[in-house]
Amino acid sequence: MVSCEVLRLGHRPERDKRITTHVALTARAFGANKIHLNRPDSRIVKTISDVSEKFGGNFIIETVSNPKSFVQKWKGNILHLTMFGIPLNEKLGVITKSKEPLLIIVGAEKVPPWVFECSDYNVAVGNQPHSEVSALAITLSKINPEGCEQSFDGGLLEVIPSSERRNMISKE
Ligand code: SAM
Repeated sequence: MVSCEVLRLGHRPERDKRITTHVALTARAFGANKIHLNRPDSRIVKTISDVSEKFGGNFIIETVSNPKSFVQKWKGNILHLTMFGIPLNEKLGVITKSKEPLLIIVGAEKVPPWVFECSDYNVAVGNQPHSEVSALAITLSKINPEGCEQSFDGGLLEVIPSSERRNMISKE
């Protein structure tokens, strides 16, 4: 698996709480190890920590005070998701062959120009505007198809897949 982390840029606590929470849940569920938020938001940290406590895994959420410097110091590949980029499928081969960790950047509002300049790949999931949640889910599932099948150790609950009903067991 390619080791992936996500940088969520432009998070505005007053209006992006729900969508940033969904970006973080998607990152966790689809196999990323960590999400970095550009602004502190304890409500999102609490929601994600609660989910991890219940359902397990080692997903980490943290805040970066200076996203530009964080990106410049990143040791590995950087993929920026933007509707203006080149098709993801054109870069999948080179990204999945690399052994380097991958930082995936998603925006909220318009991202600053340095994001395009610092990224190794400015990549689009189609060239129509949609959502950071859908773009991230599709990207992670193509880079690491096994990511959403991984087991999450150490939680209190486990979902038992069922075609008929809601079924979970307590692991306590
Ligand atoms: N109007 C904004 C702009 O000009 O960048 C787009 C904001 S969009 C709601 C939020 C984020 O969703 C973008 O920063 C990008 O990461 C992601 N996104 C939206 N459409 C995408 C696409 N077709 N391909 C890849 N990422 C996309």
